[in-house]
Amino acid sequence: MNILELTFADFEKQIKARYGRGSFHASAAYKHFYRTGRTDFSALPEFQASPGLAQAMEADLVIAAGKVHEQHREDDVIKFVTRLSDGLEIESVIIPMTGRTTLCVSCQVGCRMGCRFCETGKMGLIRNLTASEIVGQVIAARNEQGRDIRNVVFMGMGEAFDNFDAVIQAVRVMNDPRGLNIAYRYITLSTAGLMDGIEKLAALHPLRPNLGVSLNASSDALRSKLMPINEKHSMQRLRAGLMAFPLKKYEKIMITYVLIEGCNNQPEHARELAEYLAPIRAEVNVIAYNPVSERDFLPPDEAAVERFCELLASEGVIARKRPARGRTILGACGQLGNRHLTGC
Ligand code: SF4
Repeated sequence: MNILELTFADFEKQIKARYGRGSFHASAAYKHFYRTGRTDFSALPEFQASPGLAQAMEADLVIAAGKVHEQHREDDVIKFVTRLSDGLEIESVIIPMTGRTTLCVSCQVGCRMGCRFCETGKMGLIRNLTASEIVGQVIAARNEQGRDIRNVVFMGMGEAFDNFDAVIQAVRVMNDPRGLNIAYRYITLSTAGLMDGIEKLAALHPLRPNLGVSLNASSDALRSKLMPINEKHSMQRLRAGLMAFPLKKYEKIMITYVLIEGCNNQPEHARELAEYLAPIRAEVNVIAYNPVSERDFLPPDEAAVERFCELLASEGVIARKRPARGRTILGACGQLGNRHLTGC
């Protein structure tokens, strides 16, 4: 029983099928594991009269999360590297912010989307993560922080909609009130624009996490240069999908725009972007490009990022500058997977 990939309902079914027991024991064991990370069910009062059951459950449990074997810090930003059971490695980043801590998780080893500004994209896709390997990153971050993680973004290594089923199962486990209890509104799946994934997420409404889109350009010509996926899923098609995406009252689609000096940072780009987004309830996070190994592009300075945000705001777009944090540990947006530059 791999508890990290089971919601409480899944776990309860397994307990019934394996031991013929009901929710009394299942609930005690599930809560205990997700609240403490421990599997010593024999110590729980609910198992006092059934020590054999506690022992059998302890022996049957598999915790296949991988092992954190490196940590890198820049101020309070922590990047941790997890070695998976097959020896492959993934990276996750804890980013403390005012009032909350955000965990950026990976969902694949590498990524097949090939975005030109992204280190993970240069790796190609090696394999998908399992739901338990995704949930394991939350448990590891909680253990590191010594407190619960309340905000999760799928903006680490990988394209969330290229591994849809495992990602959604991981989200269901994270959301389970008897377990990690992270509200859907505090979980965001980010995509480079895979239309079938956007449609599948829309179909889960309202029991679904937020949608984020990595846009990064204001026209097809420019976007296709930065993101090969655009040749298959054009901006027009993407906009139709975003306009049709059902939103709750308080919700907006989170658009990420990586600002690259001399590429997509001109006033006309801001104007075109505002026009493109006009029919969509969205907010834009503008992130300065973070250099990766081949240094194909230049990062803009802080003032350029602010100017771009102001231009968007003057066109009626909700836009904010996302601070570049974790650059020196290669934990910032687009840098994950760049092991040789860290000297690791
Ligand atoms: S930006 Fe995201 S989708 Fe694009 S290559 Fe990097 S990890 Fe993949």
